[in-house]
Amino acid sequence: MAPVADLKVTSDITSGEFQKMFTLGLQIFVQALFYMTEFLESNITYLQGVGPKRAELLSNELNINTFRNLLYFFPYKYIDRTKFYKVSELDPDLPMVQVKGVIRNYYTEGHGKSKRLVADFTDETGTVKLVWFKGLKWVTTSYTAGNEFIMFGKPGVFNGIINIIHPELETVEKKAERLNSALQAQYSSTEKLKNSFITSKTVSKLVGTLLKQINFRIAETLPTYLTSKCNLMHIHDALFKIHFPANPQELEKARYRLKFEELFYIQLNLLRYKSQRTSQVKGHKFSSVGDLFNQFYYKNLPFKLTEAQKRVVKEIRKDLGSGKQMNRLLQGDVGSGKTLVALMAMLIANDNDYQACLMAPTEILAGQHFQTITKLLSGINIEVKLLTGSSKKSERNLIENGLTEGSLNILIGTHALIEENVKFKKLGLVIIDEQHRFGVAQRARLWQKNTDPPHILVMTATPIPRTLAMTLYGDLDVSVIDELPPGRVPIKTMHFTDPERNKVFGFMRNQIREGRQIYIVYPLIKESEKMDYKDLEEGLEVISASFPPPDYCISIVHGKMTPANKERSMALFKEGQAHIMIATTVIEVGVDIPNATVMIVESAERFGLSQLHQLRGRVGRGAEQSYCVLMTSGNLSKEAATRIEVMTRTTDGFEIAETDLQLRGPGDLEGTQQSGIPFDLKISNLAKDGQIIEYVRNIASEIIEEDPGLISAKNITLTRELKKLFGKAQVWSNIS
Ligand code: ADP
Ligand code: MG
Repeated sequence: MAPVADLKVTSDITSGEFQKMFTLGLQIFVQALFYMTEFLESNITYLQGVGPKRAELLSNELNINTFRNLLYFFPYKYIDRTKFYKVSELDPDLPMVQVKGVIRNYYTEGHGKSKRLVADFTDETGTVKLVWFKGLKWVTTSYTAGNEFIMFGKPGVFNGIINIIHPELETVEKKAERLNSALQAQYSSTEKLKNSFITSKTVSKLVGTLLKQINFRIAETLPTYLTSKCNLMHIHDALFKIHFPANPQELEKARYRLKFEELFYIQLNLLRYKSQRTSQVKGHKFSSVGDLFNQFYYKNLPFKLTEAQKRVVKEIRKDLGSGKQMNRLLQGDVGSGKTLVALMAMLIANDNDYQACLMAPTEILAGQHFQTITKLLSGINIEVKLLTGSSKKSERNLIENGLTEGSLNILIGTHALIEENVKFKKLGLVIIDEQHRFGVAQRARLWQKNTDPPHILVMTATPIPRTLAMTLYGDLDVSVIDELPPGRVPIKTMHFTDPERNKVFGFMRNQIREGRQIYIVYPLIKESEKMDYKDLEEGLEVISASFPPPDYCISIVHGKMTPANKERSMALFKEGQAHIMIATTVIEVGVDIPNATVMIVESAERFGLSQLHQLRGRVGRGAEQSYCVLMTSGNLSKEAATRIEVMTRTTDGFEIAETDLQLRGPGDLEGTQQSGIPFDLKISNLAKDGQIIEYVRNIASEIIEEDPGLISAKNITLTRELKKLFGKAQVWSNIS
């Protein structure tokens, strides 16, 4: 009877009951996921084979603290263990190899510190020496002479004889037992770990233990609709196969799945923030373009705007009038005329009774902006002031009063702008020039200057490849000035080595005779260390001897000078009195002296590409032919040679940035340290995975468009994962 009754109940189920059951089912499911998630957070000590000592080592050396950390500690390469070599094929040029053979006998060689254990390892083609410097006793007892082993190691050569130092040995039966994987994962290790016998093999074993323990069940971290639409492996397959791939195809699929996920969540997070910000944050509405802007545009503008400048001004104008807060990145190569665009945006703010500020990374640059802008605004009734760390107390007070009263319209300055006591009456627009010099915290302070956030325009001359920009500035709108003002003659770039210095001096004399001015820049590693000025000081001696007074005048600028002295030196050069300016990279950013036509970079091999490009951008600002001379020593590393080659071949900032990205990887690129990614990328590479980035961004953007708050049931996994990944982290551009 009972079964019938049960059946009846089931068939008569109401939609309300069904709903309840469904919810219950869902709860159990979520609970199960929760336990799995919890489980992965277990301390690594609880893993079989890991005691307190190993746990400490794993934590200190590899940052592995939990099961999850271990699972996501991916191999850095794989070795094909299907291939066996013969002893006769061994050659020191080969990578890690495996050979099947017999340990015939053990003996020692050498004395004292160089005492080593040697084994003759033989197969049918010959004999090779295996060598140990440590654990001699352990080796002879573990691997009995006379037995057959699979030997794995890197062939080397000593005294003309091929040997293998500290090989891995395994019995043939043992190898068969191991998790079946033709491609053997190699994990990075450290000296300390190796000394404690935690090798790549040990790590592999631990991962195997862990995978068995979780029974290869890991809660899917992407919604099913995505994995099926994008043809992705299940997460537990991917995690298993990344550690134990059976073949290259499988490995590739696993890698793709993990890269997809990593990059997808970064994009989803950025786009979610962007969408939230646009819908929630109110922006000051600058409804009209008024007298100030028009006066400037029709009376003061010294030249016609380039088409690119016009387009960008329109884009900014549209943002400012929209009632939403602007968060825009303005990219424009050096010399493309960003300052003018910044000024026009500030005038729109002023026209609407708002104040604006322009923040620059160095005093020199702030001072220069101040001069340029004051000049451009001559005859227009507008109050502009400069505030830097070296502003006098009385001047500061004046500025602070003007700001709170509202009589000061435009404030230009350095970090001093974001100090506590600088308060605006009605700050409507903040422009940050050469943003990569500002840290996250500094931008955050700016944000706090108003209850309603000001509009933000971030300007950068460091061209960023498209796909990298998608990640680094993924939640900002981007404008690009992709055109230089007319009449610019492309800069000629030349490469000379130190012995050719006399030629360069001759060239310099000619240029000076024609009325031109010259920069000579020396590398500087750390501004604080005296030693680093050695180059500059020695250089100065040589240059002064070859360009003596009274015929020649040299000015010097470096980071250790007082601001007043720096300014005096700059002025000397700017006014044309000095022929040569010797400097460290303090002039890298933004200095604008059109009559300077030669940029000589000393020890150019010590500069990065983007720095070289910035430096070169200091010349070529007038109508005269300009030159960039890269001085290097005679022998260059391969990478340095590529940098020099690219510099002499092209002036296209984007091509240079692209090369830079390929050479160095994104981690080292300026600006990337403050990216919106609060964790280390485990598997993807912003330089190389551009295609995937583009793909996942489109997918993320479709999802956000359809469900901006990610509240629909099918997106429950997305919110859970976002919380896990970005829980406490802030996206910097949201607060900048
Ligand atoms: P950057 O984008 O590197 O900040 P600047 O704003 O310093 O460039 O401009 C570089 C130089 O080009 C300046 O001397 C500036 O006066 C000049 N300039 C800017 N816009 C134009 C234009 N439309 N036509 C001619 N010269 C321009
Ligand atoms: Mg500039």
